Amino acid sequence: MALELIRTIEEFRRVRDEARAAGSLGFVPTMGFLHEGHISLVKMAREQNAVVAASIFVNPAQFGPNEDLAAYPRDLERDMEMLEEAGCDLLFHPSPEEMYPPPKQDVYVVPGDIASRLEGAARPTHFRGVATVVIKLFNIVQPDRSYLGQKDGQQVAVVRRMMRDLNVPGELVVGPTVREPDGLAMSSRNTYLTTEERAAAPVIYRALTDALDLYRAGQTNADTLRASIRTTLESAPLVASIDYVSIADPLTLAEAEGEVVEGAMASTAVQLGKPRLLDNVILTKSESRGA
Ligand code: AMP
Repeated sequence: MALELIRTIEEFRRVRDEARAAGSLGFVPTMGFLHEGHISLVKMAREQNAVVAASIFVNPAQFGPNEDLAAYPRDLERDMEMLEEAGCDLLFHPSPEEMYPPPKQDVYVVPGDIASRLEGAARPTHFRGVATVVIKLFNIVQPDRSYLGQKDGQQVAVVRRMMRDLNVPGELVVGPTVREPDGLAMSSRNTYLTTEERAAAPVIYRALTDALDLYRAGQTNADTLRASIRTTLESAPLVASIDYVSIADPLTLAEAEGEVVEGAMASTAVQLGKPRLLDNVILTKSESRGA
């Protein structure tokens, strides 16, 4: 089945109803400018479902006033080639007016504590925008399974919590972070990096994996592990500022105090040149790095 591009909600619902007769529907929401991280989720959805839908929507509601909404990179033609190649059946690509018709949206999904920490401290309305667009997309697409990347660990936590607290049907599947060969997590925003910044960027993953190695060697004190990450980042050239270094419960994102529990999420956000880069690893004793 060739990839079908659909721009309106009405048309998507019609096509989806026909396609669903074939069986389960897997859904991968994105903001486009796709890379292997997105594509790994599409491939996972392809393996597990009869029909695969992706969306490309640069959601204005999750950008703050001084963020990169207008400049966010876009390349629909290339995205469509990559989606088709990965076996995606349906692409929902609505305009902002289609998703947010006038009058101005008045009802939002407003996550609580989980959204005020980490990314939420620097971007106070970000997760309100994310949760709202995700529930809108889920209501349009009505997927059996939705696929999100562990790369955005807080986003996973917010969506998981929303699904649980609001009894949203369907299953959430989380794919591991796909990285460049030198460890940098793939991100559409990596295109903003200069050559020098790109060369410095792998320090983020190295700081996190050094802490993971310490944890595996028996260091379970949260402060010590956070300090290790911070020291590595501070030693790196071009890291202009460190927004946060966190070791937190992966479900509530409450910051770990004292002993770290198995499965905690170590995460950081740093300003490296123009972009803020995020990354995380799961602290587990087992060999899988939790990506
Ligand atoms: P975005 O287009 O940035 O909104 O991302 C769309 C989806 O792809 C989200 O669920 C992201 O977490 C996921 N994603 C982005 N980068 C990666 C990556 N490097 N590895 C795995 N998933 C990713």
